[in-house]
Amino acid sequence: MSARDPIFDILFEPVKIGPVTARNRFYQVPHCNGMGDRQPRSMAAMRGIKAEGGWAVVSTEEVEIDHTTDFTPSIEGRMWDEGDIPYHARMVEAVHAHGSLAAIELCQQGIATANLASREVPLGPSAQPLIKLAPLQAREMDLSDIRAVRASHRASALLAKRAGYDIVYVYAGHDLSVVQHFLLSRYNQRRDEYGGSLENRVRLLRELIEDTKEAVGDTCAVAVRFAVDELLGPDGMAADGEAPEIVAMLADLPDLWDVNISNWSNDSQTARFAKEGYQERFTAFVKTFTSKPVVGVGRYTSPDHMAALVAKGALDFIGAARPSIADPFLPKKIEEGRIEDIRECIGCNICVSGDRTYTPIRCTQNPTMGEEWRKGWHPEQIPPAASKDSVLIVGGGPAGLECARALGQRGYAITLAEAGEAFGGRILAESELPGMASYRRVIDHRLGAFTNLANVETYLASELDADAAAGFGADHIVIATGAHWRRDGVGLHQRIPLPADDTGPAVFTPDDIMAGRLPEAGPVLVYDDDGYIMAGLIAEELARSGRDVTLMTPDAMISPWTENTLEQHAIQRRVLEAGVTVRTGRRLVSLSGAARHACAYTGGEEETAAAAVVLVTSRISNDGLWRELEARDDTPWHSLTRVGDALAPATVAHAIYAGYRFAREFQAPASAAAPFKRERVAV
Ligand code: ADP
Ligand code: SF4
Repeated sequence: MSARDPIFDILFEPVKIGPVTARNRFYQVPHCNGMGDRQPRSMAAMRGIKAEGGWAVVSTEEVEIDHTTDFTPSIEGRMWDEGDIPYHARMVEAVHAHGSLAAIELCQQGIATANLASREVPLGPSAQPLIKLAPLQAREMDLSDIRAVRASHRASALLAKRAGYDIVYVYAGHDLSVVQHFLLSRYNQRRDEYGGSLENRVRLLRELIEDTKEAVGDTCAVAVRFAVDELLGPDGMAADGEAPEIVAMLADLPDLWDVNISNWSNDSQTARFAKEGYQERFTAFVKTFTSKPVVGVGRYTSPDHMAALVAKGALDFIGAARPSIADPFLPKKIEEGRIEDIRECIGCNICVSGDRTYTPIRCTQNPTMGEEWRKGWHPEQIPPAASKDSVLIVGGGPAGLECARALGQRGYAITLAEAGEAFGGRILAESELPGMASYRRVIDHRLGAFTNLANVETYLASELDADAAAGFGADHIVIATGAHWRRDGVGLHQRIPLPADDTGPAVFTPDDIMAGRLPEAGPVLVYDDDGYIMAGLIAEELARSGRDVTLMTPDAMISPWTENTLEQHAIQRRVLEAGVTVRTGRRLVSLSGAARHACAYTGGEEETAAAAVVLVTSRISNDGLWRELEARDDTPWHSLTRVGDALAPATVAHAIYAGYRFAREFQAPASAAAPFKRERVAV
């Protein structure tokens, strides 16, 4: 263990939060995880690992206070009655086991939830449509409803105390909390003592803080999570508007301020749209109005940045959700002077997609995230090698790199052969696209790990054919040769190749554009039948280089899957601002003669005068080498396996997971059962 630079000592000072004390300044703010109360063992194990990794405070996801605020189908937490205590206690125990504090974010979602399972009429400050589209509306809370919400919040706080929590939140953020809805004039048009003046709109927040302090404040700290800006200018809460007045009014009433920007897509912006520390200009004022500790977030992964923030008095705690997901051991690595080992978040929001698709959280950088309980995976530890066997890995993209890193960590003798002049595979080119540079961290982390692994030998400029791979003499061969974009138009909506010939526009793929093989002058049609980020990136890149670009998709919006990464609006805005013409609901039907496309609804056809078409539709595995080896009669190796895009093209997160999974399960006892434990609901 190398000594840590004293500049970081400030990050390891204990900080008092009301009646409790955090052992350092690393604070895992509440974040959803797609497991929640549905997979409570999984959730608890994941939180426990964060505590083990050095996060002094580890928080839950949103926790419903009762049945009037049911978040279904989202998978969050519940503290409705004492029947919910045991699963919370499990998480608290996992966090306490490592000397950290456990925090619970109690929540009444107001007009943000449709109560789909409980079928209760949603509650709001005023009678209004819900925030998320649903064919039902919220009713205006009367004074007895307000009393009931207060009583329920208080009861949940008492249950939280019994479960062992150290910090209880009053939540007013993300456009996901009735308390926040009361603060905002656009939602709150009441004429009673809870509406109108700012003092009235703040009343419920003040009462909930007071109620919680009175109920549990003797042993639990009471935190407020408050969204200081909504990026709506004067139409919303603003750091240069009412937010400072609110913090000044409540000042030292809570024990801690956890401040951020709203809504969730603003708070959790991807690296493509916001840099580390992007919230600082909004939250900077908070410390000037309170003597209580302040937590802020901003996808912090740089220890220098963190130490500087605390040293200059901007924040007391470095808040993190995503950096703690990508590297649960981030605090420990700084503490032990192992900064180069930090696995930095790349800001891709694949983690968010777990919540949005109601599945356990996953992470591009950390393949063990969400697998701590069900697979027993640990982000830092891995079982030692089960033999002295050697492994040849062909292909140094994310799958091959991670496979080599994790097998190397186990102690196997590894050779990694890469055809290109650099490691990184698809990421090398993709990280050159606008806003994608952070993906390089995926490569850098693995190459950094190799410097400590003498048993991993790496070779560049080493394209292996079947004879070379077979002749190498490794006991095991892993094929991680990636994939390439299709040129024939096959995609989500087009299952057979598009009609095309020499009379039509020149056809390109994203691989061409990324390699600098650009269309000659003339209008370019970028056709997206893939639905994730690539088409938007290519359209933006071409438009910025002065091309006349149309982005067409059969879907109703561009990049529809990026709703799961909270980027869809930002991507659509970005391409429109870049001057791209967007055409939705249109399906390419032919590239013969001209680019012909049909309305996705009526079938009505049109032609577009495009000199070139970039088909962003789907990818094909580079599995030729695997097929040749598989077909050989002489097989001196014990196993031959494809991983990552060479098996089936997917995200970088999938490739990292595939590489890690192979390494983690390599030479483990075989079993016909599902490769993970399940959490069953037992009566
Ligand atoms: P994945 O996402 O599955 O890791 P990538 O396409 O990112 O896939 O990376 C695959 C890598 O494999 C590329 O860097 C490519 O140059 C390399 N590669 C492909 N075929 C060979 C080969 N025959 N020998 C060595 N390297 C190869
Ligand atoms: Fe960061 Fe991406 Fe991992 Fe989320 S999935 S924590 S954004 S690297």
